Amino acid sequence: MRITVRGAVQGVGFRPFVYRLATELKLKGWVKNSAAGALIEIEGPAQAVEQFLLRLEPQKPPHSFIQSLEYVRLDPAGHTTFEIRHSDTIGPLTAIVLPDIATCPECLKEMFDPANRRYRYPFTNCTHCGPRFSIIEALPYDRPNTTMRAFVMCPACQAEYDNPEDRRFHAQPNACPVCGPHVEFWDPNGRTLASRDEAIAMAEAAIKDGKIVAVKGLGGFHLMVDARQDAAVRRLRERKHREEKPLALMFPDLDSIAQQCEFSELERRLLQSPESPIVLLRKRPGARGLSDAVAPGNPNLGVILPYTPLHHLLLADLRIPLVATSGNISDEPICISETEALHRLAGVADAFLVHNRPIARHVDDSIARLILGREQVLRRARGYAPLPLPVPHDLPPLLAVGAHLKNAIAVAIGRQVVISQHIGDLETAEAWDAFKRVASDLPRLWGVSPKRLVCDSHPDYLSTQFARDSGKPFTAIQHHAAHVAACAAENEIIGPVLGVSWDGTGYGLDGTVWGGEFIRLDGNHWERVAHLRLFPLPGGDAAIKEPRRVALGILFELMGQNALARQELPTVQAFTPSELKIIATMLSQRVNCPLTSSAGRLFDAVSSLIGLRQKLNFEGQAAMELEAAATAVTELKAYPFSLGENRGAIICDWMPMFDALLKDISQGLPAGVIAGKFHAALAELVVEVARKMSERSVVLTGGCYQNRLLTELTVARLRAAGFTAYWHQRVPPNDGGIAFGQAVLGGRP
Ligand code: ZN
Ligand code: ZN
Ligand code: FE
Repeated sequence: MRITVRGAVQGVGFRPFVYRLATELKLKGWVKNSAAGALIEIEGPAQAVEQFLLRLEPQKPPHSFIQSLEYVRLDPAGHTTFEIRHSDTIGPLTAIVLPDIATCPECLKEMFDPANRRYRYPFTNCTHCGPRFSIIEALPYDRPNTTMRAFVMCPACQAEYDNPEDRRFHAQPNACPVCGPHVEFWDPNGRTLASRDEAIAMAEAAIKDGKIVAVKGLGGFHLMVDARQDAAVRRLRERKHREEKPLALMFPDLDSIAQQCEFSELERRLLQSPESPIVLLRKRPGARGLSDAVAPGNPNLGVILPYTPLHHLLLADLRIPLVATSGNISDEPICISETEALHRLAGVADAFLVHNRPIARHVDDSIARLILGREQVLRRARGYAPLPLPVPHDLPPLLAVGAHLKNAIAVAIGRQVVISQHIGDLETAEAWDAFKRVASDLPRLWGVSPKRLVCDSHPDYLSTQFARDSGKPFTAIQHHAAHVAACAAENEIIGPVLGVSWDGTGYGLDGTVWGGEFIRLDGNHWERVAHLRLFPLPGGDAAIKEPRRVALGILFELMGQNALARQELPTVQAFTPSELKIIATMLSQRVNCPLTSSAGRLFDAVSSLIGLRQKLNFEGQAAMELEAAATAVTELKAYPFSLGENRGAIICDWMPMFDALLKDISQGLPAGVIAGKFHAALAELVVEVARKMSERSVVLTGGCYQNRLLTELTVARLRAAGFTAYWHQRVPPNDGGIAFGQAVLGGRP
């Protein structure tokens, strides 16, 4: 395990402490200081490594403080001792822009101490915690370069700021009730109804009353409602145009989370970490008390603890779980200013809890989870952005602009790549504006002038057009190759790998839509060595939102016009007779039926055939539900696939699978069992293809590997067959990780 720790960890006895802890646990490896913070590598039995991680924060030396901790599990290096190494600097990094950091325990204590001058003050912070990335306008990081500029420190705050012995020595956002920002409670027209503590009380009363309150936070607005009140949650969904996509929940404390969810020690650490992401946890079977509309049909909940003083006050007073979803409509970027919020959230929020500390840039909540005993970041934003991640090779200064959905961009700096905060789907004018802002903001903050851009091969993506219009040289990287490069680089794999790059959609280089690809990557050379057999998507983009269309496309491949007669199938039932006729004509004449090898679409097809979902309310919904439905997978026989060949590439033929699956449907096998056999089949398929290749290392990447069951099954089967399997840890497996892969692959000579 490699751990990167940032914060007050140099010159405070941190390295000797690490040495003692490691040797006590009989772990091998090293610790050293670097420009990136303290770096630690530890190696030993899994149990001891986990113990080390869990004890690091609570047992650290008194004057040290951890502001950020990211870890990855790498292949064993074979260390035989534990040593304190000499400091070094990696790359030309000079300034480090820290992410926003969750409120520290000392600040919390002060805020809840009636005798303290910061009692119930919602902007309490210190050098260990508080806003950073979300308030920095320029470097160096000094108060005049932050959005705290307008607030002149009172003598008491100034004295803390000037005193090297004080916890607030040079704390740029230092503030108190006398001199700092304050909150106000507004009606939907922007009229002030109350300020300061009274504003908080009114917001709390409104939430208790089932109202939707827009709360200005660290990197943007949240929409908050009482998660127990079904009508309130449903009203929020209706107004936000978010029909079924899960909503995140903020809980008062760990105990209240434990009533609803199960979590391990590593998950607890993540919940309480300075990064404080939304953590995906398993719902506790039989738990009651939350509205069913929070995460319908989903076995997980996205859970977060309060991470700013304002959140702590709200949750400590209310003592109830709140829905805390981003303040936006559908998937636009999160609102950051009052004017924007009043305008864009008009008709959504019943009231506004705002404050007068401006937000310099949007930063959403991050999303993370534990998978196979490792952390996996699904959305990199608050707490992680804009910290760099190490890469195994030197890269020239370049800007990678990502893909289209879940967009994030990246900047390469020597042996590090900085991934921007999550930007979102480039579908709206707001998202496009946010993209352009971040594209100029991120290089500027890091003092990099990119000489080159890297983009997706899709000619129509806005991000691609941005690269083309930049006037600078640019390189286009195929989408699925970028996924593989991202996963290989973050796992620091040197040498050839077999990449399984499965997602919904990516631009193929042969006129088809790719998405079920096996890519061999060696250095900067990649080759598509295998892929799923092609199938038509009747209606093109329309099929991406309608699993029933995908399923009909597959049925047509299997049995032609006879598919229409399969009235017993939920897929066929999902169409009106006239719709069926139109789509059948499309399919038989191959009009508006792009061909795809997408693995994501196979999930859609199966979901439709077993009657689970015919139309999507959000991207990935059918796959998510299919995963949730799958039962008793380990005892099941996987569906068969056959492997063929076409022009040197292996074709993974799903025909035998669907034949068997249709037989199961006609024999009335439960949907959950069919879903299970389908997952098992895909895992088995990966092993079968890997067996035909010479690479021993297999990386699993792309949106499909957000599926926990698929990932766990595939890793287990690969390991049993003697392969080393890798998956994503710090970089999202979805398209949020594309820019990182573009930087790695596009930046190599
Ligand atoms: Zn603090
Ligand atoms: Zn003050
Ligand atoms: Fe993708």
